[in-house]
Amino acid sequence: MRTIYADNAATTRMSQTAIQAMLPYMDQIYGNPSSLHSVGQAAMEALTDARNRVAKALGAANAREITFTSGGSEADNQAIRSAALWGKRKGKTHIISTAFEHHAVLHTLKKLEKEGFTVSYLDVHENGLVTPEQVEAAITPETCLVTIMYANNEIGTIQPIREIGAVCRKAGVLFHTDAVQAVGHIPVNVQEDNIDLLSLSAHKFHGPKGVGVLYAKRGVILSNLIEGGAQERGKRAGTENLPGIMGMTAALEEAVAELPETMPKMAALRDRLIAGLAEIPHGAVNGDLEHRLPGNVSFCFEGIEGESLLLLLDDKGVCASSGSACTSGSLDPSHVLLAIGRPHEVAHGSLRLTLDRDTTEEDVDYIIRAVKDVVEQLRNMSPVWRDLMAGKRQFVIE
Ligand SMILES: *Cc1c(COP(=O)(O)O)cnc(C)c1O
Repeated sequence: MRTIYADNAATTRMSQTAIQAMLPYMDQIYGNPSSLHSVGQAAMEALTDARNRVAKALGAANAREITFTSGGSEADNQAIRSAALWGKRKGKTHIISTAFEHHAVLHTLKKLEKEGFTVSYLDVHENGLVTPEQVEAAITPETCLVTIMYANNEIGTIQPIREIGAVCRKAGVLFHTDAVQAVGHIPVNVQEDNIDLLSLSAHKFHGPKGVGVLYAKRGVILSNLIEGGAQERGKRAGTENLPGIMGMTAALEEAVAELPETMPKMAALRDRLIAGLAEIPHGAVNGDLEHRLPGNVSFCFEGIEGESLLLLLDDKGVCASSGSACTSGSLDPSHVLLAIGRPHEVAHGSLRLTLDRDTTEEDVDYIIRAVKDVVEQLRNMSPVWRDLMAGKRQFVIE
C-alpha cells in the first residue's frame, strides 16, 4: 500500500537541494564561526553568505536584520518578549493579538499577562479572517505590539498583513507576524508588507527541523532569551547550527523561486480536494476559500470523531491531521475552530489535509475516496449520527 503524506502543515519532507546544501557543513566546513583560524573563518563566510541570501529572499533591507534561531517557536517567543520589554520601558503594556494564533504565541502572551501586560484577543470572523479595521479600533495609547499570524496553520486563512502592518506603522506600534505557514508558500516581503518582526521555520518549507529565523527591522531592539556567547550580535547565544542554516537557506531560495509554479498547481489540487469532500453530506469547509494557502484543506464533519477518522485514514495510507499537531493527544477541540465559531461537537469532527508541491491528482482522488468511505463507516457506528438521523438532535451543519 502506498502512503500519501497530507500533513505538510505539521512538517515537510526535506528537499534534496536542502539535504545536499547541508552535507559539506558536517564534514568539510565544520568549523566554529567564532574561531579565528581558517577552518572557523570558512564557516563564518558561509554563515554571512546565508544571512545575505535569507535577507534577500524575505525582501529585507539588511542582513543584520536576520537572526538565526532554533525554529518558529523560539522566534515567536523572542519577538514578542522583545517588543513587550521595549513597550514596558515606555510605559506601554497593552498587546493586540487574535484568538487563533499558534501556541508559541498564545502561551507567550499568557505568561506576559501574568507579568502585568494586558492582551486584547481580536475576534476572528467565521471565515477565519481579522480586518485592519478591527486592529485599528483596538489600538490604544498603551499599545506596544500587535502580533497576528500571516497564515493560519489549521485552516489556512491568509490575513491582510500588509494593511494591518500599515495601520500599526501609522500608530507607531510594533507589528510582529508569525509567518511560519506563509514563507515559502506564498509571496512574503517584509518591507512591502510593513512588518517589523517576523518568525519563520525551515521545516515547514522542506528545510531541516530545529532551525528558523527571526527578522527584526532595523531599529527594533531584540532582547535575548538565551544568555551566553556573542553569536548573532549578542542576541542569541550558542554556536550556530551551520548545517541547518545552510539547508534552510537552500530550501527557502528553492521554495520562493518555485512559487510561480507551485502556487497555482497546488491551489488547483486543493480546490479539487475541497470539491470532492464537499459532496459528503453534513460537512463544511473551514475558513475562507479565497484568502487561503494553496495547500490547505480543512473540514468539519458532523457526527464523527476526528481522532477515529485519522486512525482509519492512516489504515488506508493517508496521513492527515485533525488540526494542530501541538494539540493532538489532548481531548480539547481545536482553539482555532472554536475561534471561528464552530461548536464543540462539530469542532471534534475536524480534518486537515495539507498538500505539498509533489502531491498529484491521483493522490487527491484517492484521498477523496478514502475520506468518503471512512466518514460513512464511522457514521454507521455512531450513536450521535443515529440520533441526528432520527431527528432526536438538530444538525449544526445542514
Ligand atoms: C510549526 C509552527 C510554529 C512552530 O515552529 P517550530 O519550528 O516547529 O518551533 C509556529 N507557528 C506556526 C504557525 C507553525 O505552523
